[in-house]
Amino acid sequence: MISLSKKIIVTGSNRGIGYAICKRLIDDGFNIIMVDYDSDVANTARKIKTGNNSAEGVVCDVSDYNSCQKAFENYKGDDIYGIVNNAGINRDTLFKNMTYQEWDAVIKTDLYSVFNITKVFIDSMIKNNCGRIVNVSSASWQGNIGQANYAAAKAGIIGFTKTLARELGKYNIKTNAIIPGFIKTPMTDSVPENIREKFIDKIPLKKIGLPEDVANAVSFLMNEKSKYINGALIDVGGGLVL
Ligand code: NDP
Repeated sequence: MISLSKKIIVTGSNRGIGYAICKRLIDDGFNIIMVDYDSDVANTARKIKTGNNSAEGVVCDVSDYNSCQKAFENYKGDDIYGIVNNAGINRDTLFKNMTYQEWDAVIKTDLYSVFNITKVFIDSMIKNNCGRIVNVSSASWQGNIGQANYAAAKAGIIGFTKTLARELGKYNIKTNAIIPGFIKTPMTDSVPENIREKFIDKIPLKKIGLPEDVANAVSFLMNEKSKYINGALIDVGGGLVL
């Protein structure tokens, strides 16, 4: 049985999908650590907390290895049950126009972050012989015009997920990835109306997903009911990519 007193870390959780994941995990009875580079995250954690569960906010730039090591030096060996590597950004433009800075920022935030955060906690998870890692990829991992940087990072996450699933299964640590399609968050709010309409037209369910739809999938992957699921890609895209 999972002890619900254990903690789950969720990166990029001050808003959007990460915030919805935290809300859901709190409702599920977990304690959470919300990580974001927005300094308001401690405040957000205070507001999200309900009942006896703890919620704390940690300000950290997850794209930076040293920031992660420093931000969590007091947490090492803590009772960490789960990691949700959710933080991500996009800097969309055609490859011919893409600058090194746009490439670098997306790869560091969306892919290096997954290494940086997982690295901090993996030894204690192995010692506990228990844990769940959920990595948030994207339907764009298969390639998408204007997203060479983002697609490369999100495809990298899948290789990472499947490798950890193979390496860590023997320690009772399950590693899976979520593949969101088009979800309504501040990240997608800036998508122009005509492009949004084109996306909706491609989705068999004919509507944009909600952050809560992704949060429900994460909740399942943190739950005892998913104990035999390891190395899976859970699609939350309404059928956008089949
Ligand atoms: P949002 O931009 O709405 O939220 C992302 C959060 O991550 C923000 O709070 C942001 O902080 C934080 N963040 C960004 N960079 C860092 C960093 N270096 N260190 C710490 N925190 C950081 O994005 P979404 O909620 O839409 O996306 C969440 C994840 O889901 C991302 O990985 C994204 O790629 C993925 N995804 C989203 C889809 C969608 O349709 N929305 C579709 C497919 C995948 P701040 O507010 O300060 O910028």
